[in-house]
Amino acid sequence: MKTLRICHLYGNLLNTYGDNGNLLMLQYHAKQAGYQVETKLVSLGDDFKADDYDIVFIGGGQDYEQGIIARDIGRLKDELERYIESDGVLLAICGGFQFLGQYYMTAEGQRIECLGIFPHKTERQEGTRFIGDIEIYDEVNQVTYYGFENHNGVTTLGPNQAPLGRVVTGHGNNGQDKTEGMHYRNTYGSYFHGPLLVRNEGLAKHLVALAIANHEAKKGFKSLSQL
Ligand code: GLN
Repeated sequence: MKTLRICHLYGNLLNTYGDNGNLLMLQYHAKQAGYQVETKLVSLGDDFKADDYDIVFIGGGQDYEQGIIARDIGRLKDELERYIESDGVLLAICGGFQFLGQYYMTAEGQRIECLGIFPHKTERQEGTRFIGDIEIYDEVNQVTYYGFENHNGVTTLGPNQAPLGRVVTGHGNNGQDKTEGMHYRNTYGSYFHGPLLVRNEGLAKHLVALAIANHEAKKGFKSLSQL
């Protein structure tokens, strides 16, 4: 059987609110499309080679775990950037989404350096969190997504950075500008827990379809020496 390879990045540390359910959903839709799934946990100190994966998933977490990961994640920057720029499928939830940006200020005011792959920045809010149901509208694909958010972080996208959608109800990235998450090539970031893909099946199918297309293209690719 054909196999899709998923990397669960820091899955033993970033796994709040059933984020791992996203993996079950990817697995389910991959099977529907005739693929079995191999999931590998890549965590502190582990090797990560972008070419080994068809999907990379990063969940959300608490500040404590984010502080631990911050001391390790920098070494992955070049490989992840290469993966993203070559249209690799990446889904990053909450803390994972924050890690793709420049920095994250924890609720207690500690600055956590992030990967710096994307321009978004995450500040803190005093004494409160954005918690509750959320609904956003993805104008590009004309789809509504439903989810649940729970974050202290207040994220501002860079000037040319596209959101995943516009907030209809709830807070989104910062409670101000109506943006939620981010989207670039085949990389999706979102504050949706819950998990995102179970409540938004169309997005799950879309990610699997993208991953299968990439997988097949890679298989068909012949290096110069093979021609
Ligand atoms: N600790 C981060 C915050 O509070 C991320 C939370 C999460 O992943 N749910 O903003």
